[in-house]
Amino acid sequence: MLAQKVTVQYPDEKIELPDRFHGRFELDADKCIACMLCANACPNKVIQMERAKVGKKQYLTKYVMRIEYCMFCGLCVEACNQDALHFSKVFNMNQYFRQKVRLILVDRPVPQEEEAGEAADVKRPATEGTAGAKREVAAGRSAAKEGES
Ligand code: SF4
Ligand code: SF4
Repeated sequence: MLAQKVTVQYPDEKIELPDRFHGRFELDADKCIACMLCANACPNKVIQMERAKVGKKQYLTKYVMRIEYCMFCGLCVEACNQDALHFSKVFNMNQYFRQKVRLILVDRPVPQEEEAGEAADVKRPATEGTAGAKREVAAGRSAAKEGES
């Protein structure tokens, strides 16, 4: 009776959630390499993903979580070695219609190979610079041979 109250008048008042709270999922699509480690780690088969091969890489096109079967155990987040999947502090995920419960984190078309190539160029400037330099050297050699003949 004399102890301090722990209840609050939600939603007018909210308690501070801990940093490691397991709330709604967030996916950083730029970091995700569509490796499926998270989907394979899930015991309830909550995660469904679609991917396409663009150039030499896998590209994530769709990432859906059947959140109604999720235990929020965190095995999927732990399995991700790209630091792409996280929990947020959002816990209010109720929906009026069942079909809206599913969490669609990514739904995007397959990019053209040129776009994917440009993205790869941005990520690997040093490698491409070396390759470009090699190409220039090769072009220079062939021009010199033409000049000799
Ligand atoms: S938190 Fe657990 S149950 Fe939910 S999607 Fe991740 S691995 Fe599956
Ligand atoms: S484990 Fe991480 S990088 Fe791999 S598919 Fe899942 S979210 Fe993407």
